[in-house]
Amino acid sequence: MTVLSLWHAIGGPYPERPPLAQSVDADLAIIGGGFAGLSTALHAAEKGLSVVLLEAEIIAWGATGRNAGFVVPNFAKKDPDHITAELGADRGERLIRFASGSADLVFDLIRRHEIDCQAEQSGWIQPAHSAAAFAKVRSRAAQWASRGRTAVVMDGAETERVTGATGYVGSWTDRSGGVLDPVAYARGLANAAEATGARIFERSPVTAISRASDGYLLTTAQGTVRAGKVFIATNAYGGDLQPGLARTYFPLRVFQIATDPLPREIRTRLLPGNQSVSDTRRNLFTFRFDAANRLISGGMHVFGPGAERRVPRAIHRRLATMLGLTDLPPIAHAWSGMAAVEPDFLPHLVDLGPGLIAGFACNGRGIALTTALGRELTAWATGTPASALPIPFAPPTEIPFHGLLRHAPNMLLPWSMLRDRLDEVRIAKRQDNVPLSGS
Ligand SMILES: Cc1cc2nc3c(=O)[nH]c(=O)nc-3n(C[C@H](O)[C@H](O)[C@H](O)COP(=O)(O)OP(=O)(O)OC[C@H]3O[C@@H](n4cnc5c(N)ncnc54)[C@H](O)[C@@H]3O)c2cc1C
Repeated sequence: MTVLSLWHAIGGPYPERPPLAQSVDADLAIIGGGFAGLSTALHAAEKGLSVVLLEAEIIAWGATGRNAGFVVPNFAKKDPDHITAELGADRGERLIRFASGSADLVFDLIRRHEIDCQAEQSGWIQPAHSAAAFAKVRSRAAQWASRGRTAVVMDGAETERVTGATGYVGSWTDRSGGVLDPVAYARGLANAAEATGARIFERSPVTAISRASDGYLLTTAQGTVRAGKVFIATNAYGGDLQPGLARTYFPLRVFQIATDPLPREIRTRLLPGNQSVSDTRRNLFTFRFDAANRLISGGMHVFGPGAERRVPRAIHRRLATMLGLTDLPPIAHAWSGMAAVEPDFLPHLVDLGPGLIAGFACNGRGIALTTALGRELTAWATGTPASALPIPFAPPTEIPFHGLLRHAPNMLLPWSMLRDRLDEVRIAKRQDNVPLSGS
């Protein structure tokens, strides 16, 4: 059997739920057993709806089981001021509030349902790799702090003390973020949803969605679901289930590695507070530890053959260089997954017809946001119009020239790396030009 990720490998025996093999009715049918689908199933079942969730493979088979487990309660690339400028003050502030409480929601669910998933609300740190990036980071922290977040700015020395990484100009941290084991979290959500009354079927790919008199009919190989409302939560794994949907986002392949466990003396120097770290580089540098002291990091790939072998090795080399670890233990696990990235990097609900919605809150940073999406969708499933939810809701907007542009994030990576390098050279030059005291 293929091991999908570190988390699946350490997850232990997993009793699969049987595939759908009959015709069933539900108020709400959900397609996809990742965080978005599972959180929706749990919240909707808690509201008393009858819920059926169909997963093509196993729970957490998609990005949910392949991510790094960083819990981050904000948006990739977009700050609150961008959002209010784009969406207007009212809609913007509602979307900001949606994100703002998303990490607290994750850790509350974990506590409430006693999910054993290495969860620690230890904070998420974003170190700045240049002076310009630090100015942005300070402004970002101020924007979130003015909305009640526990956003703390640290200078370079404090950043080094907290992370163990050198060379950063400063950083900010949102203390509501943290770390978890995503597969254990997803399995816990699935168990909680079932305990609340939701029905979950694995190895049950939906092959067709058709209109029925009172809603929709979903077809799988051996069964059907008739449901009043349908939520498509397939992220970048939906294929052509719904024509055109795959052309509304960029499918971004992200690689991850986990090393063998690090010795205790190094572990106490690096991230003693056990936070997750993603820096400001365009070619993002990330790291965290798991409970066994494995160091986890990720990266993207530039096109070319052999990415499966090449990219994990490059991530390992970068990890060793960035953290000054000449004797970094070897790679124990390497894997990759697909993230759906929206052109504006914001969560979206896609209007596919009365009672039929697709939801995307991934953008490569979706543990907290897709969990929160599930709670919001429950309001829709119980009668609130989708247009009244805090997440932008519109018919599908296909990205022009998608066949070509879908590769843009990979094609632009060398350019991003070059710009990061220029930032680093500028910093090094500035440090060289600082007069030595007494000279
Ligand atoms: C490598 C990687 C690292 C990441 N790291 C982080 C991180 O550290 N922190 C963070 O916050 N976010 C991270 N993300 C993003 C995060 O993992 C996603 O935002 C989140 O898991 C998306 O959940 P989802 O439920 O929307 O989709 P997915 O988890 O992708 O689930 C979609 C599911 O739909 C199923 N499906 C597809 N078609 C059908 C069908 N026809 N019938 C039935 N089922 C179907 C698939 O099998 C799949 O299980 C990362 C993503 C990747 C790829």
